[in-house]
Amino acid sequence: FLPHLVASMEEVEQTYIMIKPDGVQRGLVGEIISRFERKGFKLTGLKLFQCPKELAEEHYKDLQSKPFFPKLIDYITSGPVVCMGWEGVGVVASARKLIGATNPLNAEPGTIRGDLAVQTGRNVVHGSDSPDNGKREIGLWFKEGELCAWTAVQEPWLVE
Ligand code: UDP
Ligand code: MG
Repeated sequence: FLPHLVASMEEVEQTYIMIKPDGVQRGLVGEIISRFERKGFKLTGLKLFQCPKELAEEHYKDLQSKPFFPKLIDYITSGPVVCMGWEGVGVVASARKLIGATNPLNAEPGTIRGDLAVQTGRNVVHGSDSPDNGKREIGLWFKEGELCAWTAVQEPWLVE
């Protein structure tokens, strides 16, 4: 274990990133994973998964009362999704920046939604909105044994 990594451990966060069914259907899986990889984050879990309705409802339970909720659940369960855990310093907020605004119309060019999506209801990717939700969502979508703790060789070149 490298001692110089200890100092930054408290800033290390986990986030749950998911490529939604439209991203999978449109062949954007590699493109989206690349953006998180190139930024310098570490993949801790990865699977293609057909989401059951109950899980989609639990994941989006805060939006239960919204008029778009039933359509959102239909969308998320309409085909396989790619579930990912990503780890890094400030990864929660940073991933949200890489993803861009909820409505792709407002998402800056250079962001995933700004470059690759047109409408809120088909915005290709999900990212946790807080470190607590990052942990909650990773726990929701992954079973024990599906996640890997590992040391990336590039770590000393990303975090001082
Ligand atoms: N959504 C939608 N219509 C809306 C708002 C949200 O269909 O008016 C969907 C969209 O897929 C969005 C998801 O619900 O990504 C979750 O909404 P949230 O506000 O949490 O946006 P996000 O965190 O994904 O940017
Ligand atoms: Mg959200």
